[in-house]
Amino acid sequence: MRVAYKCRAYPDPEQAAVLARTFGCVRVVWNKTLTERHRAWHVEGRSTTYRDTDAALTTWKKTEDLAFLNEVSSVPLQQALRHQHSAFANFYAGRAKYPRLKNRSSRQSAHYTRSAFRMDDGELRLAKTAAPLRFVWSFDKVDITELEPTTVVVSRDPDGNWFVTFAVETSDPTPEPATGRSVGIDLGVKDFAVTSDGARVAAPRFMERKARNLARYQRRMARCRKGSANRHKAKQKVARAHRKVRNARNDFLHKTSTRLVRDNDLIAIEDLNVEGMVKNRKLAKPISDAAWGGFRRMLEYKAERAGRTLVVVDRWYPSSKTCSHCGHLLDRLDLSTRTWRCPTCRTRHDRDLNAAENILAAGRAVAGQPPGQACGADVRRQGSSLPRSAMKQEPPRA
Ligand SMILES: [Zn+2]
Repeated sequence: MRVAYKCRAYPDPEQAAVLARTFGCVRVVWNKTLTERHRAWHVEGRSTTYRDTDAALTTWKKTEDLAFLNEVSSVPLQQALRHQHSAFANFYAGRAKYPRLKNRSSRQSAHYTRSAFRMDDGELRLAKTAAPLRFVWSFDKVDITELEPTTVVVSRDPDGNWFVTFAVETSDPTPEPATGRSVGIDLGVKDFAVTSDGARVAAPRFMERKARNLARYQRRMARCRKGSANRHKAKQKVARAHRKVRNARNDFLHKTSTRLVRDNDLIAIEDLNVEGMVKNRKLAKPISDAAWGGFRRMLEYKAERAGRTLVVVDRWYPSSKTCSHCGHLLDRLDLSTRTWRCPTCRTRHDRDLNAAENILAAGRAVAGQPPGQACGADVRRQGSSLPRSAMKQEPPRA
């Protein structure tokens, strides 16, 4: 399992210059390779292998125009090729968008594998730099002098902050003691999450305020003339506001996901089509604010690390429309309907809580756990035969 520790870094001027040059070379290699790969495919109908790109890089380094690529460590350049290779693999597998060109104003990064850095007694030395790179280690539970990272990533945000990320390969996760508890989570717009035990996790308000600040800075930037000093200043403010929103959001997501993983042996969530929902404008803002995708990724790796079971319930499972008490399936339920009464068993449902209970029941069925008392027999049945397509959403019985 891979664990990454990200901390602020403070390169000295010499290191900053070497790193900035390395970022530039990584960008050149990425962009040239991407352009070349694109051309090979569209002009010659030929697909490009990692080996092809590696051979091309060797050739470029021998030309006069691109001889500067030799001035930086070759490892980050190789890593850029590897990343592009997997970016394409992800694209072809339908998991990611088509890889894009990198520009100098976005986040920059360079990946160093073991041959290009040295870790001694908690000091990090990167290839082509003399002094150790200064960084602030803020993980109390991990002894930095014992750390043996497999990869070190140095990055710089658009607002000029530097970071170093240590990726560590840990053998087997230490499972946390069982709690005997399970939880179903309904992610929502009004509340960020409602759990099957009835708890509501409100989306933090302060994030909204930070988002408003961001919008204000963005408007201000739009009014500045392109290329002007004021615009540059405004742009940095936008980047800083972006970072604040991001940090606040990540902080919230980390706290929430850590708590859920710590307190439960089984966690069930719905496989939401986040991309599709973000396209829906009415839902877009709260969702991108709430960052369900990031939340789910956190749950995934934290559950794995703690030896918990995470079940992702099929997105077509009608968790909101099914009565968690008797299994009655409603024909429709408007997004604005917050509570409803089951026409069959007359149970009054809170929309989100009912969904969370159904998600838990479906999760339990997948994990082979005995259902709790909150779920009726029909829900169990529906849960165990998780519908795989929208077609199967038809009411199961008369
Ligand atoms: Zn019912």
